[in-house]
Amino acid sequence: MSGLYARESRSVSTMAHLRFFPQAVVGGSGAYLTGDDGRQLLDFAASWGAASLGHSHPAIREAVNRALSDQAGASYLSTANEPCVLLAEKLLSLVPERARGRVWFGHSGSDANETVARMVVVATGRPRILAFSGAYHGGTVGSMAVSGHPAQQGARAEGLTLVPYPNSYAAGSPDAAKDAALAHLEKLFATEVPPQEVAAFFIEPIQSDGGMLVPPDGYFKAVETLCRKHGILLVSDEVKVGLGRSGRFNAFEHSDIEPDIVVFGKGLGGGLPISAVVGPEAIMNHAVAFSLQTVHGNPVCAAAALAVLQTIERDHLVQNAERTGHVLREALYRLAARHSLIGNVRGRGLALGVELVTDRVSREPAARQTALTVYRAFQLGLVLYYVGVRSNVLEFTPPLTLTENQAQEGVAMLDQALADVAAGRVDESLLAEFAGW
Ligand code: PMP
Repeated sequence: MSGLYARESRSVSTMAHLRFFPQAVVGGSGAYLTGDDGRQLLDFAASWGAASLGHSHPAIREAVNRALSDQAGASYLSTANEPCVLLAEKLLSLVPERARGRVWFGHSGSDANETVARMVVVATGRPRILAFSGAYHGGTVGSMAVSGHPAQQGARAEGLTLVPYPNSYAAGSPDAAKDAALAHLEKLFATEVPPQEVAAFFIEPIQSDGGMLVPPDGYFKAVETLCRKHGILLVSDEVKVGLGRSGRFNAFEHSDIEPDIVVFGKGLGGGLPISAVVGPEAIMNHAVAFSLQTVHGNPVCAAAALAVLQTIERDHLVQNAERTGHVLREALYRLAARHSLIGNVRGRGLALGVELVTDRVSREPAARQTALTVYRAFQLGLVLYYVGVRSNVLEFTPPLTLTENQAQEGVAMLDQALADVAAGRVDESLLAEFAGW
């Protein structure tokens, strides 16, 4: 093969998946991955946030080993296994009162959101759903049907209406973004979308794949008021930014709202496939009609999830996300002062985004430079992905265990990568091997 990595392994090139880097990993520990060439890579992506405790965490290893060696627990016959029952109890204690009914387990954020989309329509008898432009709720047909990310065009449900997510950077100020987004919603209710026909509003408390957008203060509170007024269920998709990542346990807590349904995924299993929907009984009782997935709620993944939640509490990882996230964000602000490619730094806790632009006045997206920066950072030893409806936002979702030193180490590599991209020192032909999106 051409390019920098002469050792691209067969296993990587045979993968029919989105992959950013032409390299297999052979292991990992904490915030570091080990490449098959022995290189240590600092992981600021943590598999889109799924590796919430980092790699090879002892608490997950022990819990999984125990669940595997316990034959009764590992029978996979139903979700009434002990780890699942304990996990359901735990999750119920972590959501607002109004969502405290029953729990459904799935394998991914996608199947969880798909289940919600189907349940809310059946349970309420209302045919419509609201979601945000740019929202990524999953990659199955049913979850794509309620998503607004460009990657999911073509699979949208007939009853879906997309509304703009308030974008403070694009609008010029948080208030301008909030006012425009709320005015859009109110106009919609007064015209095309009768609110009494809307079953649910799917929200991302921080819009992650759409560009790591942080909602302006007061926006979701106003959305909640509208939803309550019209009997619309509020569904908080916490898949990427929940479970402590934002510096609060639930990311919706920043907006002081109480969703009716909460969706967990990614970091819940710490890398193992498990997701959960928590909501009122009247809604969740419909899940059974859609829940025929043989090994969902299996005890191995549930045990991993319990270990994740216990470790988040025991090691104060929500507080660590807040503290280390602050250090990381401050370091990124300092980078912004020196790199004109950086248009905006935003996020909460350890869910951060850096928007790259070719011009700070016009805010033209610097998508090519974003891909090059991600690639160059990888060459230097930093794993970072990009997101955004215009593919120009560097995304930071490192393990919740990240230390301040690791935050600084990663930013130093990013600093170098940005300088190399700006100076044209990165071989553009490498992008041909780069299977991003
Ligand atoms: N919801 C959100 C907010 C996400 O970011 C994602 C994945 N990027 C999903 C749902 C889908 O989760 P999964 O990939 O586990 O199906």
